Amino acid sequence: MWIAKTKSHLKKQLNDCSQPVILVPTMGALHLGHAGLIDMARQRAGKSGTVIVSIFVNAIQFDNAGDFEKYPRPFDADITVCQLHGVDGVFAPGHNEMYFPDRSITVTEELLSKGLCGDTRPGHFDGVCTVVLKLFNLTRCDAAVFGEKDFQQLAIIRRLVRDLDLDVEIILHPTIREIDGLAMSSRNVRLLSGHRKDAPRIRKALLAAGEMTSAQQILDTARQEIEKSPYLKIDYLTLVDAETLSPAANLNTPTILACAVYYDDVRLIDHIGIRR
Ligand code: AMP
Repeated sequence: MWIAKTKSHLKKQLNDCSQPVILVPTMGALHLGHAGLIDMARQRAGKSGTVIVSIFVNAIQFDNAGDFEKYPRPFDADITVCQLHGVDGVFAPGHNEMYFPDRSITVTEELLSKGLCGDTRPGHFDGVCTVVLKLFNLTRCDAAVFGEKDFQQLAIIRRLVRDLDLDVEIILHPTIREIDGLAMSSRNVRLLSGHRKDAPRIRKALLAAGEMTSAQQILDTARQEIEKSPYLKIDYLTLVDAETLSPAANLNTPTILACAVYYDDVRLIDHIGIRR
C-alpha cells in the first residue's frame, strides 16, 4: 500500500494504477463506519481496480477553530485500518499541500446547504464542496463512496456532480452504528463516559417518533424523548423533504427526520427516513 503526502507523489502512483479508481474521502480517525465504506469501494473496484482513501482534516470546512484543533488524528492507526481492509493507496496531504496561501476560489452550493447543519456551521459545505472537487480532480477517481450518515453532505455532493458535470459516480453507504444504536463517528471518542451512555437515546427517540402518524406528533415525540436527557442540547430537530431538504410540513413526499445535538462541545448528527 502506498502513502502519498504530496500531489506529485499521488500523480506518480496514479500513472501505475489500474481502473476503476474508487475514492473514499475521509478526515481520518477511521472507525468501522469508514471501514464499511472502504469494503464497499473494494467490492466496486474488484480485485484489480484501485481503492484510494484520502485522509485530510480539511481546515476550511470547520467553522470553529477549537473543533478543528481537537479533531482526532491517529494517523498510524488509520494506516493500519487501511492496510487491514486492502486499500491500495492513501492520499494524506497537509494543509499547505492542498491549499495555496493566496487561494481565491471556493465552490459554493446555494440551496441545499441552507438549513440543517448549514445553519449552525456557516461556510462548512463550501469547504466540503471545495475539497471534494479537488480530491476528485487529484485522484481522477471513477467513483467515490460517501456515508448516508451525513445525508445533507451527500445531497450536496450529488448536486456538485450534477451541476459541474463531474464524471464521478457517487456511491452511498448506509449508516453504520454501535451495538447500542449510536451512529459511529470520529467525534464519539470525545464524549465523556456519561454522555456516551446517554447518546443512544438520539436514535431511540428518532425511531419512536417514526412510529407516529402526523408531522407534529413525530416532532413532539422526538423532542420529548431527546429532552429527557439531562446532558444534551438540541441544535436542530426537523422534518425535511428527502430530495430538496426543504422543511416538510406534511408527509406527502419522502421525508427525513433529522437532528443534531451537542454534548458539551461534541456535536452529533443522526436521521431516519419516514416511510408512509
Ligand atoms: P468523516 O471522516 O467523518 O468526514 O467521514 C468520511 C466519510 O465516512 C463520509 O462519507 C461519512 O458520511 C462516512 N461516515 C462516517 N461515519 C459513518 C458511519 N457511521 N456510517 C457510514 N458512513 C460514515
